[in-house]
Amino acid sequence: MIERIVEAARLRAVRKLPWLSSPIFNLPVTFKAMRHLAGVTKDGVITFSTVNPTAKWWEKVWQGGKVEDKVRVADECAHVLAHECLHFVLKHSSRRGGRDPSLWNVACDIKVFELLRELLPAPEGAVKGEHFGLSRYFVEEATVEEIYERLLQLGERVKEFENEGSGVTGVEADWEGGIEERGVGELEGERIVNEVIDAMEKTRGALPFGLEREIGSLRRRGKIEKWRRLFSSVYSLARGRVLFGGEWKYPPRWVSWAIGMTEAGKIITSPTTFDMPEGVTLLPKLSQVTQPKVAVVIDTSGSMCGRDIRECLGEALTILQVSSELILISCDADVHDVKRVVKERDIPLTLHGGGGTDMRVGIEEALRHDPDIIVLFTDGYTPFPEKPPRKGIKPIPLIVVITPDGTTEDVPQWVSYLIRLGGE
Ligand SMILES: [Zn+2]
Repeated sequence: MIERIVEAARLRAVRKLPWLSSPIFNLPVTFKAMRHLAGVTKDGVITFSTVNPTAKWWEKVWQGGKVEDKVRVADECAHVLAHECLHFVLKHSSRRGGRDPSLWNVACDIKVFELLRELLPAPEGAVKGEHFGLSRYFVEEATVEEIYERLLQLGERVKEFENEGSGVTGVEADWEGGIEERGVGELEGERIVNEVIDAMEKTRGALPFGLEREIGSLRRRGKIEKWRRLFSSVYSLARGRVLFGGEWKYPPRWVSWAIGMTEAGKIITSPTTFDMPEGVTLLPKLSQVTQPKVAVVIDTSGSMCGRDIRECLGEALTILQVSSELILISCDADVHDVKRVVKERDIPLTLHGGGGTDMRVGIEEALRHDPDIIVLFTDGYTPFPEKPPRKGIKPIPLIVVITPDGTTEDVPQWVSYLIRLGGE
């Protein structure tokens, strides 16, 4: 039941806060019998309680079946969902430093409440500045760090240990044990934050007061190598295709029932994506973990030095932070290693090769594994295929990553993602 409410809440939240869509859809949601109404882990798993009194109250009202009550409940739940997303996006977990986790949690809650106050109704009992004698004006202007300082000055002590999760305090909460859901890696997290920033720039004027400033300072924090950003955005596009079924002949395996939104914003559900009327945007299910398949081809020909190859293997690890698995292929003029990589330790220390160069062979091998993205690491001294690789009629994105001392001269025009390793 609470699952249904959260499902509805996600859609309400996206409609009311479109700039927050990325975390709302990308952070996985789980359910647990826990005291807190909701929480968030460091890697972005949002968990709702199945037993908290507010959750129970929501269920009761929801069952009453009146449309206006359901909307109210969905909005309150959307408030909570957005609240958890904001803890994640605003990086409260890593900003705590040496501060008291419990009081820090309160300071963060006060700020987040203020950011959402005008946008969505909060459930009863939400922590707000007024409870501590802080004026709205002060909270709007202040950073979380300043709110924390003020609480300290006021001699506030938190009676009960507050820990809404490691996504707020950095300290693992008791309910976090045994969560099977995989959260998002550091790079994926960065991408989500960037998507929020981008979306906010398009929405200027309709944003909660102070949010722009909060998030502006985040932009300066994340600094990620250029190629990683590129991979992350290509991956995100590919995942969009997998999740939303845009260009696919068949619905992905996971669709047992589908939920979608019409252009007018009406929500409809049906047993499979086949039954959806045209023009409906398919929305992913709550705990969806459908991921594009990534194949990584590493050039191990004689011209690639040991350091180059080690660096490429290191980048394979970066890819693994975003994608939960990949196929690793080493190739000189022939294919040598072909390995499915799920964990860091699956990545070999060295690869076989050392002969001539023909990356066409490596790309062909990659295609045998039915990938959605191919990443090719090479110094560029190789023949390339004449046409883009395809899956059926659909071209597969190929990212060509050139090593720092490599050449881009022979890379054909059709390669749309060409980037050099090591650039920022
Ligand atoms: Zn909170």
